[in-house]
Amino acid sequence: MEPILEVEDLRVYYKSIWGDYRSVDGASLKAYRNEVLSIAGESGCGKSTLVEGVLRLVKPPGYIPTGRVVFEGTDILKIPEEDLRRIRWTKLAYVPQGAMNSLNPVVKVEEQAIDAIIDHSSMDEEKARELAFSMFKEVGLRAEVGGMYPHQLSGGMKQRVIIATAIALKPSLVIADEPTTALDVVVQRGILQLFRMLKEKYHMTVIMVSHDMAAHAQIADRIAIMYAGKIAEVGSIHSIFEEPLHPYTKGLISAIPSIGKRYVKGIPGLAPSPLNWPPGCRFHPRCQHATALCAKVDPPMKEIGSERFVACHLYG
Ligand code: SF4
Repeated sequence: MEPILEVEDLRVYYKSIWGDYRSVDGASLKAYRNEVLSIAGESGCGKSTLVEGVLRLVKPPGYIPTGRVVFEGTDILKIPEEDLRRIRWTKLAYVPQGAMNSLNPVVKVEEQAIDAIIDHSSMDEEKARELAFSMFKEVGLRAEVGGMYPHQLSGGMKQRVIIATAIALKPSLVIADEPTTALDVVVQRGILQLFRMLKEKYHMTVIMVSHDMAAHAQIADRIAIMYAGKIAEVGSIHSIFEEPLHPYTKGLISAIPSIGKRYVKGIPGLAPSPLNWPPGCRFHPRCQHATALCAKVDPPMKEIGSERFVACHLYG
């Protein structure tokens, strides 16, 4: 499989009077063409910061001390801002967290989509209008929705407007951060199916960030589990759900509620602070399998079988 995106040892830090918050601290992963890659983990593990680093959207006091982000052969962290702007939207689209609330309340949604298309392409208004109309239809919105204002739309409809706008120029990679948060389960399912359709119809690669493991199970081909600023485990969605290896992954899966389960087992303890990650394996204060080695040595990522990786001293 050909990787479309390779992230190597990416670090994203935030300066503060107490020291650097090391939100992403040595994360590496690959996304392949025409796949849905999920990034999962508790709130505060660095998922959203990771995609902001990948898209070079980190603003001061944040900074990227090290790392490589190679997208279609180009190191995004090294190219001039103007070149990056040309790639954004046309090749690399982003649906940020809470994007549906960023729609301008006094402009009809169709006009907002047309503005974005014109701004990132050489299309005239007529062509951009035609494209916006066809994309609204593609994501399941009725024709009259384009002429409405954001307050006239439900949360799910607003999210579809955002997705239609983001993918209008047919990017090869779409990164969506918590696209189903704050939506009810029926609407969530519709949005997840929409991403799956985009992958299948337009051969896009989709990276979805969410803390919701059940959402990942519905859409992903592969999943990367993130803990304390690093990737803890990566594998196909089936292998991770059927046989999770990392004790943290096991904890996340056992915390998914289901009708047959009488009790939901959570992960003991709290996520550590990026200001002061624990030494050794960062999960060791919460891990029931921790040994003296775990408290001292950070486990490297090891390949366990085909396209299955885990960073834990119990393996390899
Ligand atoms: Fe637990 Fe040790 Fe594995 Fe970390 S390296 S997850 S502490 S067993």
